[in-house]
Parts: sequence; structure tokens; C-alpha cells
Amino acid sequence: MTTLARATRKPAKAPGESKKGVRGRGSVPTVSGDVKCVKPSGKGGESPLPSTPAGVTDSLQFVTPAVRERLARLGILRLADLALHLPLRYEDETALVTIADAISGTTVQVEGRVVESKVSCRPRRQLICRVEDESGSLTMRFFNFYPSQQRALAARARVRLIGEIRQGFFGAEMIHPRFRVLRGEAPLPDALTPVYPTTAGLSQDSLRKLVARALRDVDLAETLPEPLRQQINLEPFAEAVRLLHQPPPQVNATSLQERSHPAWQRLKFDELLAQQLSMRLHYLRRSRQRAPALRSHGGLSRQLVESLPFGLTGAQVRALDEIRADLARPHPMQRLLQGDVGSGKTIVAALAALQAIESGYQVAVMAPTEILAEQHYRKFAHWLALLGVDVAWLSGSVRKKERDQALERLASGNTALAVGTHALFQEQVLFRNLGLAIVDEQHRFGVRQRLMLRMKGGQTNAQPHQLMMSATPIPRTLAMSFYADLDVSVIDELPPGRMPVVTKLVADSRRDEVLARVRDACASGRQAYWVCPLIEESEALQLQTAMDTYERLQREFSELRIGLAHGRMRSAEKAAVMNAFQAGEIQLLVATTVIEVGVDVPNASLMVIEHADRMGLSQLHQLRGRVGRGTQSSACILLYQAMLSELARERLRIIYENSDGFEVARLDLKLRGPGEILGARQSGVPMLRLADLESDMKLLEAARRVAPKLVASHPDLVECHLARWLGGRQEYLRV
Ligand code: ADP
Ligand code: MG
Repeated sequence: MTTLARATRKPAKAPGESKKGVRGRGSVPTVSGDVKCVKPSGKGGESPLPSTPAGVTDSLQFVTPAVRERLARLGILRLADLALHLPLRYEDETALVTIADAISGTTVQVEGRVVESKVSCRPRRQLICRVEDESGSLTMRFFNFYPSQQRALAARARVRLIGEIRQGFFGAEMIHPRFRVLRGEAPLPDALTPVYPTTAGLSQDSLRKLVARALRDVDLAETLPEPLRQQINLEPFAEAVRLLHQPPPQVNATSLQERSHPAWQRLKFDELLAQQLSMRLHYLRRSRQRAPALRSHGGLSRQLVESLPFGLTGAQVRALDEIRADLARPHPMQRLLQGDVGSGKTIVAALAALQAIESGYQVAVMAPTEILAEQHYRKFAHWLALLGVDVAWLSGSVRKKERDQALERLASGNTALAVGTHALFQEQVLFRNLGLAIVDEQHRFGVRQRLMLRMKGGQTNAQPHQLMMSATPIPRTLAMSFYADLDVSVIDELPPGRMPVVTKLVADSRRDEVLARVRDACASGRQAYWVCPLIEESEALQLQTAMDTYERLQREFSELRIGLAHGRMRSAEKAAVMNAFQAGEIQLLVATTVIEVGVDVPNASLMVIEHADRMGLSQLHQLRGRVGRGTQSSACILLYQAMLSELARERLRIIYENSDGFEVARLDLKLRGPGEILGARQSGVPMLRLADLESDMKLLEAARRVAPKLVASHPDLVECHLARWLGGRQEYLRV
């Protein structure tokens, strides 16, 4: 008999190992643990959750409630989840080294006898055991241990240890090694040992046993049609799962550790496929709903285009054509309009809105922030006023009486278009016949708001069309994954005549030179932004810093008209400041990052960003996009504090070297991972545990190619695949 233990209460997961671990599992709502075999009922494709063949239940009834509760913490609710609970890494227990031969700093397995075991209380309570083999001795130290472990490690016990060996003050040491007390024969295993993500109270040994049991009982049926599987050159599913949990002796250890082994490829592919399939099904389900076919004569749009002081770019025309074709269909459009800051998405949205209005329908335009919404309102009102179209402004800053009137005109259908922030979603906003909803910076909205808006179609049963816009340029891989349930139009061309923004990195110690530049720019009739540092820890401190900066700059530039805009201002105040800046009454605008989106002042040609090292890359890129909107050359000065961390230095280098938002986003994705870039957690998109969007690009492409075909030709396999990977969860994804 042997016992395997780990003398710690912490999960058996070393720091830094958790990246691909249980992340994501817990972040999506889960439903009941059991998956029953239900045959599809009623309408096709409405996906019930079958997974196991009749007679076999996929439940964890055989474990105690306590263990079930621990498994649930890991997102394991069914046998299928156990089978897909894949090792974090593997340990090589197949070989022993002698203590004398062990190289300091490496992880090794040694075997020996405990010659001394004691609990010391200084400098802190710890269990110290000396272990000897024929070549030498080492000290084990445990800072957390159970009495049972202390007893097991009494003098004379024969033990096998795995851990990192270090030369300490008292000779060789292992801190918190994994140990196994040997009794009788204990042959070395002949294959790698999997190490699982786990949680308190669930040992690696128990998990291994549970997984073995799951592998025996669970349905590991293939979900890819054979010809397809061979065509994309993937391992059979069941074999791949077995290999990853119980690697045979001859397996290539490196490819297993690095997750490049064909078995890993198969599992990553399946995960990506599940994501694509579930999003594809939602897309199809929505596209079967009805929407008003907006087929207008185009009179108003033509008038607007003719009144513009510029011609549309080729990219704008292409995007508009795609949107128009969608709007003319009797099913809801689900399209994302993507384009870098300043690429001219707003006019495209306005022309799309006119198509709805001409067809006798109403339009909602919404934005995440008051400032952005107001910018939209101003533009739409300006453009549409020329055409005699009434535009309503719904915002927190509008007085109740005016607001009520606006709501009334919306309900009666007299107002064709409403712009607002979240206020637009509030219960009392009713449209007579909403035909199109335009959502800017859609990734900032959660699932819920989007759903609520869709329910406001008015008297008709039809759904409004949806146009989402995003200025957060998303790398292609991420878009493929995250927006698999949307059609995407990209404006990949900036309007002509834009001067590129020159980015400069300046150490904070050279602030005087920066002040001189601001003075020069304003003296020559241009305007500038001064962006205050982001202070994430405290909003109060952030506000304080903005106030201080404002006062300091006022003393510095007594000759300039300076304004201050920050997130805690009342909307009316903020709007007044922004209007004054727009009108040129304010020369220098001191602002927190509230100006990140939506400000469009072509005469502003200089931006100073303080403590740029604290900001995210996409944020810096968005900020920088606020200048360079006019015809004069523009600059963005990034002030940084000396003593930059490696990461901060890398980030500043990226923003300095790249002006293309897509490239910035791609590099950002590499540095930070997709969740943070898109706020993907709240989006309802299934998170990836195994696959990596950057390195598994080929698999993602294959999954994306295959998903529509499978949905069309093998709905039964699709159901099994989704049940296996998402369980009951897909019902909670985007609606
Ligand atoms: P974004 O895509 O960031 O929302 P906007 O729609 O705010 O960009 O457009 C940025 C600026 O470019 C606006 O002032 C807009 O009027 C102007 N603009 C849009 N399209 C063109 C074009 N084809 N030619 C010249 N200027 C344009
Ligand atoms: Mg915009």
C-alpha cells in the first residue's frame, strides 16, 4: 500500500499554473448536474441536451455529497465533465535520482528514509524532516501539514519525494515536496503522472481515481463524421481523451507537456468547435425570426450623401451595401460594423438609419457613455434635421418634462430616431415600431441590455434589425471566435487627407519641454488635450489628481482658457465643457479617460497623456485617435515615470511603433489574453479553457470552416458535441 499526499491545504496548483486551469468553467452559469437523454421535441434545432446512450446516466451519484460539492467547485457536474477535466501538466515519476546527483533548482524525484522528524516553531511553525539515501541527505520543510501527515513522516518511514531541490543554509532542501510513503513493493510507474487542477479537500489521487471511473463509464462517442475527422487529420476522440489522462509509456513527454501532441490538438479542436457550433446555432435561431423588410426608395439617403462635404470612402460604401442588403431581408440583421477610430462609422450608421426611417420605421441609437451618446446625438440631429427628420435625445441630463415629451413622441411614432445611453433601455421607453437598433461599442454592453432592446419592437411581432459598431479593433482570430454569431463588415480605410499622429515617448522629468509644446500649439490657434493618469485603486484619488492637474496647469498657463472634464461631473456640466471645447472656447481640455471614446474635435492636434504606462494599449490607442482628425499634423505625447517595469516598457514600445489599431490589438491580445480586451466574461461567449486563440489559429480556422457544415448535415452529432462540452450551459449564451 502506498499513500500519496500533499501536505498543504492549498489546491495542488502551483502559482502561475492556473492560466489554462479552471478559468472559464465557473464563469458561465450552470444548471442541473445531470444530463438526461432527451430526444429532440417540437421545432428542429432547439437543442435539448442528450448525451449518453439510453440506460447510462451521466451523473456523479456514486460520490459522496461532500466530494460532489468539491467537484462542482471545479465546474465538474457530470461524468462527461470529469472526462474533460484535463491535466494541467504531467509529472515524471518514472525515474529516481540520488540526492547527491540532484541539480539544485530542478524538480526531481528522490527516494530515501526519514532519519529525523520534528516540528519547529521558529521562525514559524513548520514540520522538518531529514531524509537520507545512500548518497547523501536533504531536509523537507512543510509550513502547512495535517497531524496525519506528521505521523506518516515519522522517523524510519521510507519515502519518495518530488519537488524542486535547492541548496539552503543547512544543505539540500525541498519545500513542500509531494511525497509518497512507501510500504512494501512500490515499483516506479512506467508512464507520466497527470496533475489536475484541483480544489481544497480533493487530492490528486482521488481525482485520478474519479477520472479513471469516468473514463470507464462515460460515453466517449465520436462526434465528428469519420471522413471529416480524417480530412482535418485529427485523432479519434476517445483515444485522445484516454491518452491525455493516462499517457502510455512511449508517449512523447515534451509534446504532452507543451500541449502540442495530436491528442491535445483534438481536444482543443473540439472545444473550439463547441464554441463555434453554439454560436452558429444561436445565429441561425435568431435569423429565423421575423423582422420588417426595410426596402426604401433611398431618397433621403441620397439627399444626405449629397449634402456631405466629403465623399464616402470605398470601405464605407462596401460596408453600407452589406448593411442595406441585410435590412431589406425579412429577418433581423445581426451585423457588426468594425473600424478603427476615425474611420467614419457614424455616417454609415446614419445612412442605415435612413433606410429604416424611409421605410416608415423607427431607429434607436445607443452608446455606453453620456459623452459618446451626445456626440452621436449632435451628428445625427445635424444630418437629419436637413431632411426634416425628428431626432430625440434621451439622457440623464435632459429635464423630466422634455424627456416625457420625447418619450411620448417615440410612442406615437412622431419621432423617427432616438439617441441615448442606457436610459434608452428603461421600461418606459416604448417605440411604435422600432425597425433598427444601432449599438455603438457593443462589447461594453452585456447580454441583458441587448436582449431588452430586442423586445421593444412595438406592436409588431417582428424583431428590430441590429447594427453593432466597434472601434476596438479586434484581431482576426479574436473576431472569428468572439463574433462567430455575427456578420461582420469592416471599414479598413481611413478617410483621405488624415495626417498620421506622431507618437512620442517622453520621460516625466522632461515635462517642461512638453509644457512648451502645449503653449506653442495653443498660441498658434490649435487645441490640446491633457489626459490625467488613470488611478485604478481609487476613484476618489483619480478625481483628486485630475483637480490637482487642472489647478497646476491653470497656474502654468495663465494665458490659456482651460477646461476640466471628469467622470464624476454631472452630465450637464460635462456637456457644457465638451461643447465649449468643441466650439473652441476652451483651448486646453484637462480630462480623465472619459474622453476615451466619442470626442470629435478636428482642431485638437496635440494630446498629452500622463502616466501612460498605467493605461492599457487599446485605451491608449483610442485616446490617441482623438487627435489627427483635422488636416494639420498631430502629436500624442506619452509621459511615463522612470523605472518602468518590463511589461510597461513593452506596452509603450508597441504603442510607439504601431499606428494601426488592429496591430496594436493583436499585440495586446498576446500580452493580456482575450478576456480583458473584450470584457468577454460578461458577453456570454463560452470561454476557452484549452485552446489559445493565438497559437491555435489553424484549429480555430478549421473549426469555423466545419461548424456550418456540421449544423447542416449532422444535427444529431452537433447536439451530442454541445451536450458534451457545454452541458446545460448553452441556453444561457447570447439570446
Ligand atoms: P468613428 O469610426 O471613429 O466613429 P467618425 O464616424 O466619428 O469615426 O468619423 C470621424 C470623422 O471623419 C468625422 O468628423 C466624420 O465626419 C469624418 N468622416 C467620415 N467619413 C468621411 C469621409 N469619407 N471623408 C472625410 N471625412 C469623413
Ligand atoms: Mg465613433
